[in-house]
Amino acid sequence: MERFIDLKSFNTFGLPVVANYFVRIAHSAEIKELIENPVFKENRRLILGGGSNVLFLDDFFEGLIIQMDNTGWEIINEKDEIVYVCARAGTDWSFFVDEMVEAGLHGLENLSLIPGKVGAAPMQNIGAYGVELKDCFHSLEAFDLQSGNIRVFDKPSCNFGYRSSVFKHAARGRYIISAVTFALKKNAELNTSYGNLEEYLKQSGIKNPGIKELSEAVKTIRQSKLPDPRYVGNAGSFFKNPVVHKLLLDDLMKEYAQIPKYELGNNTYKIPAAWLIEQAGWKGYRLGDAGVHDKQALVLVNHGSASGREIFALAMKIQLDVKTKFGIHLDPEVNII
Ligand SMILES: Cc1cc2nc3c(=O)[nH]c(=O)nc-3n(C[C@H](O)[C@H](O)[C@H](O)COP(=O)(O)OP(=O)(O)OC[C@H]3O[C@@H](n4cnc5c(N)ncnc54)[C@H](O)[C@@H]3O)c2cc1C
Repeated sequence: MERFIDLKSFNTFGLPVVANYFVRIAHSAEIKELIENPVFKENRRLILGGGSNVLFLDDFFEGLIIQMDNTGWEIINEKDEIVYVCARAGTDWSFFVDEMVEAGLHGLENLSLIPGKVGAAPMQNIGAYGVELKDCFHSLEAFDLQSGNIRVFDKPSCNFGYRSSVFKHAARGRYIISAVTFALKKNAELNTSYGNLEEYLKQSGIKNPGIKELSEAVKTIRQSKLPDPRYVGNAGSFFKNPVVHKLLLDDLMKEYAQIPKYELGNNTYKIPAAWLIEQAGWKGYRLGDAGVHDKQALVLVNHGSASGREIFALAMKIQLDVKTKFGIHLDPEVNII
């Protein structure tokens, strides 16, 4: 166990947070030892992957950071068209997706270039370009910190929803995910219908993209729109896209006829949070080193030396302003620590 570790390179906002205790777990068996350790028993704990979806409020984390350091993947079964691939929690997500694309296994290509580790991906059911992790999820293995046992979760028991799962809500902090198994396909129709992607492929003259071309297209679009955390601190989308009832939408449309919306059924609609934030005038805003990205209003950025609390204060101002202007509550997607 290490002490006083600087987490600046372990969180994509680039905040210089110091952790009192820090432990890396290379084998699931080490977790059994860890939970007997007094430091584990007596301290607040945080399981950290790549730190690309967390905002630390304080510059000292008075507790224990646990990071899964087990990496790699293997094919564990094959059945007709389906290949079951198990990836260990500490594997870099983007690297894993590239490997699957290279192997010609379909299912994850739209999720190319999402930062973070495999173990964190089920936490918020990561999604991009019309695909979510749950679409090709098979099961995961997790260590129960309460009972000390290993538990296997199938898809229904993960309770996946839009940027959510049982791990983000009812079972928050209880399980350390150690490996995730995906059911990938040898052949499948590619999902190219998502707005931006369809448009990009059309403009690039790509008619029937293969899995690699699709993955490259996703990467190119992402790189053109999202700030690279290596240069500008950020955690991707700060807020989730809100879901509103038709009655509220009808009211808003009287003033904003052009409001973008996606029908979800049951009289509900998803509205892009980026549109609301942009309409409220926050795109490109900067106060000190905390700001809103000038190409994507949903991304809050650290231009250099903003503190976690300054970024959080900006997020709260935006949340209040959007609520006042549109009557819509924006829920943070980022985990506030
Ligand atoms: C530039 C950028 C673009 C992004 N784009 C997207 C996108 O398109 N779609 C999307 O969904 N997300 C996106 N994100 C958010 C982020 O990449 C994902 O949420 C990612 O899965 C987080 O992985 P991580 O390893 O960094 O997790 P962390 O930030 O370290 O942790 C996130 C949460 O998961 C928990 N956790 C981490 N590892 C484990 C584990 N092994 N077991 C149990 N709990 C664990 C943590 O306690 C924390 O609550 C983006 C972020 C950035 C910076």
